[in-house]
Amino acid sequence: MKDNQNKQPVTVIGLGMMGSALAQTFLKGGHPTTVWNRTAGKADALARLGADAAGTVAEAVAASPLVVICVLDYEAVNAILEEAGDHLEGRVIVNLTNGTPAQARQTAAWATGRRAEYLDGGIMAVPQMIGTSGAFVLYSGSLRTFQECQPTLELLGAAKYLGDDPGLAPLYDLALLSAMYGMFGGFLHAVAMVRSQQIQAEAFTSLAIPWLHAMSASLPRMAQAVDAGDHRTNVSSLYINQAGFENFIGTCQELGISAELMMPIRDLINRGVAEGYGADGLSRLAELIRKPISV
Ligand code: NDP
Repeated sequence: MKDNQNKQPVTVIGLGMMGSALAQTFLKGGHPTTVWNRTAGKADALARLGADAAGTVAEAVAASPLVVICVLDYEAVNAILEEAGDHLEGRVIVNLTNGTPAQARQTAAWATGRRAEYLDGGIMAVPQMIGTSGAFVLYSGSLRTFQECQPTLELLGAAKYLGDDPGLAPLYDLALLSAMYGMFGGFLHAVAMVRSQQIQAEAFTSLAIPWLHAMSASLPRMAQAVDAGDHRTNVSSLYINQAGFENFIGTCQELGISAELMMPIRDLINRGVAEGYGADGLSRLAELIRKPISV
């Protein structure tokens, strides 16, 4: 049996795929763990592992000084916190639900108005990675609160503190997810291209993975260009990328596949050229994204 005497009790609210992984990790780490989920049956497996299944949100929040929430969206988070009522006072609420920076700030203000401490968070991992060295979790809100909870939170994955503003964790989270979706989208388009010619997608990864690794080495240089606002290039201009994109679209037509994932990038490149930036590198696109034409 584990000695749980010095371990901070934790409550986990929301036992979907991610919340269950969080609760299991706290249990494995020897923390007395209370759980609550809207659909009560999802607590059963965790109860068999030693968790206390609370009957109500209020009981769950009352059970531990540290309350981790991981549900579908902020609407659900806010309804759950309302239900906790006076029990929130003195609790640390760590909200790991995905949302927008404005939602995080609103919920933080609401919770601190009820004398709870509030940290917002963004989980950079899938459930299977929680508690492994590959996972990291972003946090923002009060530094003192973060430091108090850090030893417990580190169990989930490396805990990265971003600053006082509760909106920072969702901002970084969604920026990182944007980069991920760009990569996944590009990869899925690529495998659709080769599959249309009966080439095995799995075999194709032997070229795609080293290619993406090699290209990721150019990210620091692009980031420097964006920070400096200096998009001169000796790598490739928007003109040359514009010509390349016509070949993408033409190839999609030849293969009879959709070009819809490629179109938005092509449109941005075309806008850059139309606005007089044809000689600039691809980093110019970040400036164009920051100045949408519709605003
Ligand atoms: P699931 O769909 O597996 O679980 C959703 C959870 O939200 C369930 O516990 C569900 O309860 C609860 N819920 C939904 N609506 C309400 C409501 N109105 N009131 C109370 N509870 C509600 O999702 P995940 O666990 O995968 O995701 C949870 C959060 O974690 C999301 O914000 C997601 O973006 C984030 N996340 C998920 C990752 C992943 O890979 N899965 C990765 C990183 C972040 P019930 O069981 O009753 O339906």
